[in-house]
Amino acid sequence: MTDSATLLIDGHWQSAPARFDVLDPASLEVIGTAADADAAQARAALDAAAAAFRGWADTDPETRGDHLRAAATEIRARRAELAALLSTENGKPLAEAAGELGSAARMLDWAAEEGRRAYGRVTPSTAAGPGLVLRSPVGPVLAITPWNFPASMLIRKVGLALAAGCPVIAKPAEQTPLIATALLGILQETGLPAGVLQSLTTARPAELTDALLADRRLRKLSFTGSTEVGLGLLRRTENTLRRMSLELGGHSPAIVFPDADLEAAAAGVVAAKFFNAGQSCIAVNRLYVHESVRDELLALIGKKTAALRVGRGDTGNTDIGPLIDEAGFAKVRRQVTDAVASGATVLTGGEPAETGLRGHFFTPTVLADVTPEMLISREETFGPVLAVSTFSTEDEVIELANATEYGLAAYVFGTELRRIWRVLGRLEFGVFGVNDPAPVRPELPFGGQKNSGQEREGGSEGIEAYTETKAVALRF
Ligand code: NAD
Repeated sequence: MTDSATLLIDGHWQSAPARFDVLDPASLEVIGTAADADAAQARAALDAAAAAFRGWADTDPETRGDHLRAAATEIRARRAELAALLSTENGKPLAEAAGELGSAARMLDWAAEEGRRAYGRVTPSTAAGPGLVLRSPVGPVLAITPWNFPASMLIRKVGLALAAGCPVIAKPAEQTPLIATALLGILQETGLPAGVLQSLTTARPAELTDALLADRRLRKLSFTGSTEVGLGLLRRTENTLRRMSLELGGHSPAIVFPDADLEAAAAGVVAAKFFNAGQSCIAVNRLYVHESVRDELLALIGKKTAALRVGRGDTGNTDIGPLIDEAGFAKVRRQVTDAVASGATVLTGGEPAETGLRGHFFTPTVLADVTPEMLISREETFGPVLAVSTFSTEDEVIELANATEYGLAAYVFGTELRRIWRVLGRLEFGVFGVNDPAPVRPELPFGGQKNSGQEREGGSEGIEAYTETKAVALRF
């Protein structure tokens, strides 16, 4: 049971009279509590961040990077212990938790290096003199993150912002404050100056966020979460323009062309679908398979899916953990019931899983004969259900894949390069896995089009997102 101080404000860890419970989603037992920060603590955090801004912005990027590299080293050293905490708090299998922490450490290393390359440029001289384009840190940042990747989403934002020279107020998801606190603690322990990093755990995200958005000293909001909440934040900031990165929901298609290596495509689709029990913004939601290879591919996918083991993530011998809560479970059930009632065929699964535990587990499911009117073809599922349809022409599948408000990730399996090149140009998404089920790399910009978001995290774009551009016309 963890009852530690989980608020970091101006270099000091604090508690609060109000606390909220943290649950193990597999057993629904309380595994700890976290301090429930309010608007007054949010304002204190912003006071500290605003006061720390100039000093951190003027710290040389190499020194800023040293903190990030030291934190990455510590995360790697404590990976097993942190993975156990992440797995218990979030429900994901231990191996996935360890993988997520490895990815968080790599992102810190990338941010440390890339912070030194926030280059500007010199424009050709006119009669008056040269022009310069400078980049400078945007200022205090509020980083709001979700529970589904509670380590990597948080660390990516915080790492890039700190590397760029911005103080951060981190607001982790209320379902996973303990792993967030452990990781932010590691960053603080590298000797960050007071005020450069704050952490506000809270069960009142709207109240706390409103207090911060009302203050012009907050120069950037970086949000990862649902499209619904993201759009609400856009509406709430209407009187103050500030930089906003939004990483929102997804509804990823996977397209399997007839020339694909079907064994590899089946393994890829199963991995990209069932990772984190399907609770991933880039999870495959819809599989479009060419009609000529449908039966062969579905036989392979059905077999691989039926072999996935469901149970507690932290035992080390399961592939699919619980859904995060009752609401997530109810959404999955509703989509499956709707699809079956409208003519979909259950190839495997289709029911809640019996584990003897109180948490909400769903059997890994493959639905064939899915049509565009079904709920599952329109809504993000965020659970272990794959919806399969067939197509006959390239034009048809591109239209089907693009027929969504979302535009985060898409997967293409095939070997005919000319076709893949054409399709990449026509699909309206921000991230592509071509024969690759894991298209997230620190070097690549991550983010979506349409209602999946704006701006990018990762790549050189990830640093740029935390800087302002200054144009200088120079006369000597
Ligand atoms: P959510 O939107 O409910 O919550 C995300 C964060 O926002 C949490 O920290 C939460 O406390 C906070 N929040 C909730 N209501 C708020 C409000 N009114 N004001 C301010 N903050 C508020 O989403 P979730 O259920 O935690 O996460 C799942 C969603 O996140 C899915 O839609 C998923 O696709 C998306 N997601 C997107 C990415 C991406 O990079 N695009 C990555 C992971 C998850």
